[in-house]
Amino acid sequence: MANATADIGLIGLAVMGENLVLNMESHGYTVAVYNRTTSKVDEFVNGRGKGKKFVGAHSPQELVAALKRPRKVMMLVKAGQAVDDTIAQIAPHLEPGDILIDGGNTHFPDTNRRMAEAKKHGLLYIGTGVSGGEEGALKGPSIMPGGDEAAWPHVKPIFQAIAAKVDGGVPCCDWVGPEGAGHFVKMVHNGIEYGDIQLICEAYHLLSALLGLKAPELHDVFAKWNKGVLDSYLVEITRDILGFVDPETKQPMVDLILDTAGQKGTGKWTVDSATETGIPLTLIGEAVFSRCLSAQKDQRVAASKVLSGPTPSFSGDKAALIADVEQALYASKIISYAQGYDLMNAQAKANKWTLNNGGIALMWRGGCIIRSAFLGKIKEAFDRNPQLPNLLVDPYFAEQVQKAAAGWRRVIAAGAMNGIPLPAMSSALAYFDGYRTARLPANLLQAQRDYFGAHTYERTDKPRGQFFHTNWTGRG
Ligand code: NAP
Repeated sequence: MANATADIGLIGLAVMGENLVLNMESHGYTVAVYNRTTSKVDEFVNGRGKGKKFVGAHSPQELVAALKRPRKVMMLVKAGQAVDDTIAQIAPHLEPGDILIDGGNTHFPDTNRRMAEAKKHGLLYIGTGVSGGEEGALKGPSIMPGGDEAAWPHVKPIFQAIAAKVDGGVPCCDWVGPEGAGHFVKMVHNGIEYGDIQLICEAYHLLSALLGLKAPELHDVFAKWNKGVLDSYLVEITRDILGFVDPETKQPMVDLILDTAGQKGTGKWTVDSATETGIPLTLIGEAVFSRCLSAQKDQRVAASKVLSGPTPSFSGDKAALIADVEQALYASKIISYAQGYDLMNAQAKANKWTLNNGGIALMWRGGCIIRSAFLGKIKEAFDRNPQLPNLLVDPYFAEQVQKAAAGWRRVIAAGAMNGIPLPAMSSALAYFDGYRTARLPANLLQAQRDYFGAHTYERTDKPRGQFFHTNWTGRG
């Protein structure tokens, strides 16, 4: 039986787990490791982990016995049933005050449920988002922990040591909030990632379909954009992808890739959460549905032979349109984050959570897929006003969007006139125009609902809260 020498234990030696424990060990921590298929424990301890401060455990009991008190056990297993199975195996060996951490992509209601269950046994529970993929896990991910705050002081030194750092040492990890708040914020992060990716794809589509730019020219456009307001990991990798030549055919690799996208579900969860809380998360919704449309490849190929539209043609100033697309992308991205924060505020209210809005922006500044310079501006906006109802009414972002609006409108118009779909960018513009419109046509909508269903309406000339019904047909 191992001595209790390990600072933390990890269950799940797959891609994320292996890299995360190597990161922990490189920061001076001794880590006990266990995996359901125990041969992987030996492979790891004698392979990548050789000569390092790892304790290999072949059973949950051995893992628990290797840990210093209060014991900290982090699970990085497949999200879903695997987490419940793992808890069922490990929890009976833990004692009150010990800490169970789920670092996978768990749906936050599951974390709420598991935390309540753990509490019954006196265990402290943390559900944490970990973003940045394999490389992030090894070199510094963004870590978004939530759950039992009493557990935070015990794991904070480890998490903040291994997290990505920005601004010369600020860790991209802070306490997010109670219950499943950490997993919820990670879910919104993934939804925003869907949105950011879709926006970049639409910019690419317009520039290639309308201006006829080829991959090397597009590479240059994205390289330039990455030095401006769009400076971000996703723009950076897009630049690199567009510059990548297939060794086999010597053609740009991007041109050889089939246009059907997959998804694992976190985008859908984000949209589900928005419809449940009544938040207009239109851009991420369009991003999710764009992936669904992309997956209908056979239908699209068949329809392309039946349905026609304009042939894209452009005779204006190419450089000016490229600058407009940059503005459209930037403004749409602001809308996406405004909507994402709106969702976070609504879900926080529904769950009676207090979320650390500025801290969330800081956690996303480095280590994760959506990292960008722009998130520093969001942090500043929440520092100016922690109660900000919507990012769009922050003076900085209001000005940025207004400045971008003319170019953004030209891009949406160009897409529509040339038959190039820009679902996320145009839904963002529609949201912007809707959000800044004091009177929307919902007066007519209410009249219709009252007409067919006697749903009643409020009047502009009477106090709010009084409801009226009209006999629209005059029939009894
Ligand atoms: P994964 O492929 O999601 O899961 C594999 C791990 O789960 C293995 O250790 C496997 O053990 C274990 N497992 C599966 N079913 C189990 C069960 N019923 N009981 C116990 N253990 C079980 O691994 P991953 O890609 O490293 O991801 C781990 C978590 O991090 C997931 O929630 C994932 O969504 C999240 N995540 C992944 C990434 C990424 O880039 N990969 C990024 C962020 C977050 P065996 O070896 O015995 O099969």
